[in-house]
Parts: sequence; C-alpha cells; structure tokens
Amino acid sequence: LLSCTDVRKTFGDHVVLDNLGLEVAEHEVVALIGASGSGKSTLLRCVNLLTGIDDGTIHLDGEEITDPKVNPDLVRQKIGLVFQSYNLFPHMTVLDNITLAPTRVHGKSATEARELAMQWLDRVGLADKAKAFPDGLSGGQQQRVAIVRALVNSPRLLLLDEVTSALDPELVGEVLSMIRDLKAEGMTMVLATHEMGFAKRVADRVVFLDAGRVLEQGPPAQVLGDPVEPRTRQFLARII
Ligand code: ATP
Ligand code: MG
Repeated sequence: LLSCTDVRKTFGDHVVLDNLGLEVAEHEVVALIGASGSGKSTLLRCVNLLTGIDDGTIHLDGEEITDPKVNPDLVRQKIGLVFQSYNLFPHMTVLDNITLAPTRVHGKSATEARELAMQWLDRVGLADKAKAFPDGLSGGQQQRVAIVRALVNSPRLLLLDEVTSALDPELVGEVLSMIRDLKAEGMTMVLATHEMGFAKRVADRVVFLDAGRVLEQGPPAQVLGDPVEPRTRQFLARII
C-alpha cells in the first residue's frame, strides 16, 4: 500500500532521512522506533506531504505521491495523521472539530459530515461528548477525538506520531484499545512510538530507525526481544 524508496530528506547540511526504504502492506501495522532525532516524525510528515523530500519516491496505492504534479490535498484525504498533542481547536465543539475538514476541504455536506462524525463517535464511545469543548475532555478522550477526526475522511492509511506520549499512564489504555480495534477492522497504520510495550502489543512489524535509515526490522518479538544489530540492542538497553 505504501512504498518509500531511497527517500532522502535534509535540513541544511543535516541528513535526516538517508536513502530510506520502507514498504507497508495493506492492513499491516508498522511501529517505527528509534532514538530521538532518528527521523521518525520527519518520515511521517514526508509521507503526508507536509514537507517535501530531496530525493527518492513515495508511492501510495501505486500512485507516486511525491510527483510534483500530484495535488497534496487529495493525497492527505487518503492519509490521516495524528500527532502527540491532539491539536483540537479549543473554541470549537468536538463535533465541529471533526466535521471542519470534511465540509470545508473535502466538499461533504454538513449533514453527511455530521452523520459520519456521530457514527464514529458512537463507535468509540464518545457520542455524549459531541457538543462538549475539548477542555472538558480528558487527554485520552481528546486524543480519541483527534483520531476520529482523521478517520472521517476514510483514509487508506493512518499515521500516528507518539499518540500516547502526552497521556497519563491510566489514559494510555483507552487510546491503545481504540488502535487495536482499528487494526481488527483492517486499518493500515504506521505509528512512531517510544513505548516498546505499545509497539509489541499492536504492531505486526517493528522498524528500527537509526540516523534516518532502516537498520533492522521484523516481528516485534524478534526486534524487541532478540535484535540482530548491536545498535538496536544498545537502543533497547538504554530505554528499558
Ligand atoms: P523524537 O523521538 O524526539 O520524536 P524523531 O525520530 O521523531 O525524534 P525527527 O523529529 O524526525 O526525529 O527529527 C529528526 C532530525 O531532524 C532531528 O535532528 C531534528 O532536529 C531535525 N529536524 C526536524 N524538523 C526540522 C526542521 N523543520 N528544521 C530543521 N531540522 C529539523
Ligand atoms: Mg518525533
């Protein structure tokens, strides 16, 4: 479904993604791990076309999305991105936060957008919060709303960047269980995380990034439990 080939990204003379290759199959859940600064967030931002790449290609569903002729807005309809800080608009209700993009950007009618939003809120157990403002919700609820906001566009791919790291430990579980439900429904996801327990529980494959390259990848039990590369071992030893 997603294919990154020889992706190179630099900021000035700092090479952040170094001829990176990554393939993600449909329905697969891939966890990106690696030290701070290894390029996880940058990779997700490049895939969502929030930032351009210097070299290489990224394909989604066989289409080269890094082709300059491609309209980034159309690509972003197919790729949801959720950040660590949920970025909900504080002056808008939960429902308005979710329906903003579908109505303003993607041309859905207000009624259609609202119905879709309510269906999703209902599925994640937040229908009663539709008229609430973000500051009336817990962190875990806000993060789930942010994920719903990405889901109402029916994306082909969901990118999650440290979605649990701003949360109190007791709230991580509800976001985790939402992600596992999405996985059960076949959603393809790429998630960057510092939490190895999270990676182990949701991912089909763990990808270890080191200085903007894929150094090692495989099933969670192998990469996290019995890594081949000394650098992966060092990284895991430091964080556990
Ligand atoms: P973390 O685990 O801390 O989230 P990360 O793996 O997500 O780290 P990135 O945020 O992708 O790492 O950053 C990779 C490198 O790119 C870092 O050295 C960072 O300083 C640099 N970088 C990221 N964005 C920019 C930018 N807009 N301008 C300059 N340098 C940047
Ligand atoms: Mg990051």
